Amino acid sequence: MYIVPESAIADILTRPDAFDAVEKVFAAMSAGDAYNFPVIREAIGHEEALYGFKGGFDGVGKSLGLKAGGYWPHNLEKRGIINHQSTVFLFDPDTGKVAAMVGGNLLTALRTAAASSVSIKHLARKDAKVMGMIGAGHQAKFQLRHALETHNFEKVIGWNYHPEMLPSLAEVAAEFDLPFEAASLKGMVEADVVISMTSSFNPIFGAAHISDGTHIACMGTDTVGKQECDTDLIVKATIFTDEVAQSVTLGETQHAVAAGLKSRDDIFELGAVINGTHAGRKSENEITLFDGTGVGLQDLAVSASIVEIAKAKGIGMEVDF
Ligand code: NAD
Repeated sequence: MYIVPESAIADILTRPDAFDAVEKVFAAMSAGDAYNFPVIREAIGHEEALYGFKGGFDGVGKSLGLKAGGYWPHNLEKRGIINHQSTVFLFDPDTGKVAAMVGGNLLTALRTAAASSVSIKHLARKDAKVMGMIGAGHQAKFQLRHALETHNFEKVIGWNYHPEMLPSLAEVAAEFDLPFEAASLKGMVEADVVISMTSSFNPIFGAAHISDGTHIACMGTDTVGKQECDTDLIVKATIFTDEVAQSVTLGETQHAVAAGLKSRDDIFELGAVINGTHAGRKSENEITLFDGTGVGLQDLAVSASIVEIAKAKGIGMEVDF
């Protein structure tokens, strides 16, 4: 078994590597070559932690395995370690023997940022100039950095429920020599691309806050009950997702589908756009919305890439297991 510890991931995984791995696995999922297993997520009744497993099998990339982990809300205050904790295990699909153990924390941040960026590449207007952020927490900075690397924006605007956190977005914009402005939610109409990355359980924005022609990546909703955007926007926009089954159960479309406002047949896989079996954006005025729920295959694809690079660079260790 090959072990790549969390401390080594930053030296191994580049943003382009994460982007390529996620783009390829979305395409494989849509082609029917890869599938995710049902997600398990449990409140374990200890430390208020949410713990679970996301797994899958990619028959083309030959990744089989799972990510185990979750969210421990008191880690930072009590122990000085981050609240999201996860580890990926890869198995040899020919034998079932464990093949690798990979630190999953930074990997999760990078694969999630890659997902919204892949959606921007395939669904945003090519002339998009203003990047709008809703959310300014740990993950929002990763989403913004990856988006600014994917597309040439001219300005970043941002809104956050806790406005004192907005300087972290301004710092990322400055890394790209771009101006940053704090915006009201109504001010989001200026954005050509919006990424929402919050832990909200109630709609924050809706159709009134989004201009025609905008591409939105809703990335925060990954659990039953969460919600970032109002159902009026879900109804108005053309919806794409990483996986339809997750989108309608624990993703951003769960509320509109439960209310009968949207059918699962109206939700398309981003992988189909990547594969060319869905045309993607049809007009300059269309609002496209990517519901990024986060699938296990993203973790496996990025982990497989990490193991390959780690072996080539001599980072990590082989143990007889
Ligand atoms: P974080 O705790 O660092 O940040 C939370 C963000 O949500 C902050 O911007 C905060 O101001 C905002 N917020 C908190 N309460 C709010 C409210 N009531 N209304 C509106 N905004 C509110 O968390 P993070 O690591 O940035 O993760 C954000 C969310 O993304 C989490 O809910 C996490 O589960 C989810 N997530 C999704 C994926 C995926 O693949 N889709 C991956 C990782 C994390």
